[in-house]
Amino acid sequence: MALREENYWLTTAEVPKTDAERALLETADVAVIGAGFTGLSAARMLAKKGAKVAVLEAETIGWGASSRNGGMVLTGLKLGANKLISVYGRERTQRMYAASLASIDCVERIVCEETIDCNFSRCGHLEVACKQTHFNGYARQAEVIAREFNHELKIVPRSELRSEIGSDIYYGGMVDETSAGLNPARYVAGLGAAAIRAGACVFEKTCVQKIEHETRQGAPGWKLTTSRGATWVRDVFIATSGYTGRATPALRRKIIPIGSYIITTEVLADARARELSPRNRMIYDSKNYLYYYRLTPDNRMLFAGRAAFFPESGDTIRKSAEILRRGMIDVYPQLRDARVEFVWGGTLDFAFDIMPHAGQIDGMYYAVGYAGHGVAMATYQGLLMARRITGEKPDNPFEGIPFPGAPLGLYNGNPWFLPLAGAYYKFLDWVS
Ligand SMILES: Cc1cc2nc3c(=O)[nH]c(=O)nc-3n(C[C@H](O)[C@H](O)[C@H](O)COP(=O)(O)OP(=O)(O)OC[C@H]3O[C@@H](n4cnc5c(N)ncnc54)[C@H](O)[C@@H]3O)c2cc1C
Repeated sequence: MALREENYWLTTAEVPKTDAERALLETADVAVIGAGFTGLSAARMLAKKGAKVAVLEAETIGWGASSRNGGMVLTGLKLGANKLISVYGRERTQRMYAASLASIDCVERIVCEETIDCNFSRCGHLEVACKQTHFNGYARQAEVIAREFNHELKIVPRSELRSEIGSDIYYGGMVDETSAGLNPARYVAGLGAAAIRAGACVFEKTCVQKIEHETRQGAPGWKLTTSRGATWVRDVFIATSGYTGRATPALRRKIIPIGSYIITTEVLADARARELSPRNRMIYDSKNYLYYYRLTPDNRMLFAGRAAFFPESGDTIRKSAEILRRGMIDVYPQLRDARVEFVWGGTLDFAFDIMPHAGQIDGMYYAVGYAGHGVAMATYQGLLMARRITGEKPDNPFEGIPFPGAPLGLYNGNPWFLPLAGAYYKFLDWVS
């Protein structure tokens, strides 16, 4: 099979179809912008709580990062425990870490309640050390995580690493058995179907272009102008992640869209697949410019990384296929002859402090900034923000923390500095 520039996961999923002719609701309680994990999880919960919800999606259900990701349902945050404690203090960091664990339980509960057939499995994750100094740091990290969060990680010395991974290039590893894996396209499709079953109205090919305050019959609210007409709502929830655009300029200025790319090989023989990943872990390495990889449920090696920093385009996707294949062979020389069958890319959403953020901006609700840890956290934030919008006060440790913009305000949403950032992180990987 020739290389296909296509998202492999979508070839395995049936994404719900909506009625393209259906007129927009004239009014609704809440407009959710974006039909990914964040938006659909919120829409499902809002509808279950009796709200009239319109999900407005510029493309199709799950079109964004939610169908394109690695399907790694990971514990923890992008930043390490010590860094988090130094910035947010012990108590809030403990709540943040607890939220990262609760977010995985939340995905598991939804998958179970809605019977979503998405290969959810608590297979654990493995971080592998690219340098001896990185491995030396694992024991310290595991000790902090055990002490501060009462959560156990297992250190795997180099001599035992073959029980975890069929590669000899790493200096050791660290395992977290709590993490899980799933098929993201099937999951987001199931979440979409669940939101629709709960009563949410999903409008695809409906791009929100403009949002204005408008009071109707004495009630404050918002007029949303879309590519398919206008609607009026009491509340707006922005769930646009790395695809946040001009309609919400204040949020756009706080989000850096970063490209990430994935290849999958042909289906591998069982014995070969077990040799590469004997415990079927979600694996990532210890670099800043990292690789992350796993087996798919049908035994392809899925190998991914930030081969280019820019958001995806035909050009970056094509270049990434070759860069990632070389990376994969460095890790797994035994895949030298394996055919690469799919390549695709997607856009991650990074805040300037690499943290998730939720709350209100310009009077509208939002949850963004998952920095590559969004499968579980986006689902969870959608749920928490739905409860918040309907008047509850759920504990959300990511609400109310400072949400920095670019240093000196030098950013209007066009990430001109990404090549510099990419070079900087490559440099850091070289020296540290
Ligand atoms: C290649 C890749 C690999 C990843 N791997 C992992 C992983 O293994 N584990 C993990 O935890 N996380 C991973 N992530 C991150 C994770 O996928 C995201 O954090 C998560 O999917 C974000 O979900 P979301 O619903 O917030 O946003 P998205 O799924 O990106 O959805 C946003 C939606 O908003 C829509 N939109 C934008 N503007 C408008 C508008 N004006 N009007 C209407 N609609 C609009 C877009 O069309 C899009 O569909 C990965 C991301 C990428 C790109």
